[in-house]
Amino acid sequence: MFAERLAAVEARVAAACARAGRARSDVTVLAVSKLQPIEALVAAFDAGVRDFAENYAQELRDKSADARLRGARFHAIGPVQTKNAKYIARHAAAFHALDRDDVARELDKRRVGQTPLPCFVEVNIAGEATKHGVAPASVGALLAAVRVLPNLRIDGLMCMPPPHDDPEASRPHFAALRALATAHGLRGLSMGTTDDFEVGIEEGASHVRVGRALFGARPTGP
Ligand SMILES: *Cc1c(COP(=O)(O)O)cnc(C)c1O
Repeated sequence: MFAERLAAVEARVAAACARAGRARSDVTVLAVSKLQPIEALVAAFDAGVRDFAENYAQELRDKSADARLRGARFHAIGPVQTKNAKYIARHAAAFHALDRDDVARELDKRRVGQTPLPCFVEVNIAGEATKHGVAPASVGALLAAVRVLPNLRIDGLMCMPPPHDDPEASRPHFAALRALATAHGLRGLSMGTTDDFEVGIEEGASHVRVGRALFGARPTGP
């Protein structure tokens, strides 16, 4: 079941890479496992998945401690409160939703003694009123604040465009994120979900964050 969905996603990723003239090895697929039971992650791991992504800090902490997932990497992709930053600092392979300097300072403090935490600055690329992420014009200031922190490393930018039925609607936002990253000398681009990961890859994504296409619908909370 999982293996079939993984093969289908992999075929679409490979086709998008081919269309864009990119090497398959340039794109990392993150399996977004938020709210999925641990058994779903174990099945994914047994099918070969090594990069998982979680939105909630405590859930990431708990799942990353499971012995059956030893060797897996856990990417944090959701907003984090300063009081939970320690879980990300200790257990995450990368943080894809950095948009506040107080969180950056807390992550830096809690990451001492480990390799620097790779981070992506989340950008509110479409200028939505209710979205997380820094405004494009404020990226430089946040980068400057983070660059002095020895235990963090900036790998690139991340965005989550407005939801839409048409994947092509994301293309201008992804292209804008790529241009912004280039302007700041950054190569990493975390962009594209189940709805639009192929467009993300065509526009240069280094990381796509795919949940439902791999795991099916997410369980809803109680
Ligand atoms: C949930 C989530 C995803 C994955 O969404 P799917 O539609 O399940 O692929 C990707 N990125 C972020 C930030 C998310 O919160």
